[in-house]
Amino acid sequence: MPYKNLEDKRRNGRERYLLKRGEKIAYAKAVYQRKKEVLQAKRDAQKKARVEYNLIRWPLCAPLLLKIASLLVECLPAAIKKERDYRKAFRQSEKSILWRIKNRAKLNKKGKIWREKNRSKLKAVSCKNYRKNPQYEKARRTSYYQRNRDRLLLRQQDFRKSNPEVMRDRRRKIYLKDPEKAKLHSDKRRALKSKSAIGDIRVIYKWRKTWINLPAVRCYWCLFFFDPKTCDMDHIIPLSKHGVHAVDNLCISCEPCNLRKRNKSLSEWNLEIEQPVLF
Ligand SMILES: [Zn+2]
Repeated sequence: MPYKNLEDKRRNGRERYLLKRGEKIAYAKAVYQRKKEVLQAKRDAQKKARVEYNLIRWPLCAPLLLKIASLLVECLPAAIKKERDYRKAFRQSEKSILWRIKNRAKLNKKGKIWREKNRSKLKAVSCKNYRKNPQYEKARRTSYYQRNRDRLLLRQQDFRKSNPEVMRDRRRKIYLKDPEKAKLHSDKRRALKSKSAIGDIRVIYKWRKTWINLPAVRCYWCLFFFDPKTCDMDHIIPLSKHGVHAVDNLCISCEPCNLRKRNKSLSEWNLEIEQPVLF
């Protein structure tokens, strides 16, 4: 291309340069943009893949987890049984027995603390056992009582002596719940004090229940009718004359007869009443 002059040539060169430079910049920009887009697309794809993988991963794991759980369920009882059997066998081994004999005091102390802490739990267990097999439990408890009778009675006596207020509260509770039962126990105490033989007090309780709520009852001695609330049961042969505290030796007596009779023997008392009684 012919130039008019140097000036023209220069300008032309400059223009071409600028033109080329602009093209280069635009090209670089386009390359950069494309690279950016590719990178972004790659990142998006990665993210999508990650989400998909997470979605798939758990369901993939589920059968494995289930298998582990079922294995545990299957093996655990057997493992527990094995452990229990092992402990049982160990408890019967000579080593264990000797150790327990040696550390008796320590174990007793520990057991006592544990029992006091878990009283309600123990009670629940014993109730459950009783309900499960009442006959066996009854026999077991009776045999335990017979084997340890003296010790238990002593312990009971000690408790009564050292806790008079607790005993009073208990008696009051029994009285409020069932006055008849309270009377039964006080009568029994009286019989015990006079050292008489004592029959089944539950039978006495049942017998009293048969007449205490009737509209009227007949006095065994004077044969008149009275309100049972004013009557009381009376020992035909008095306790002081070796009478038995049992239903066979009891009768219904009105208050006046009861006061008059006191502890007279039957032969003495028969002289005072109109209709003598045979016994
Ligand atoms: Zn009477």
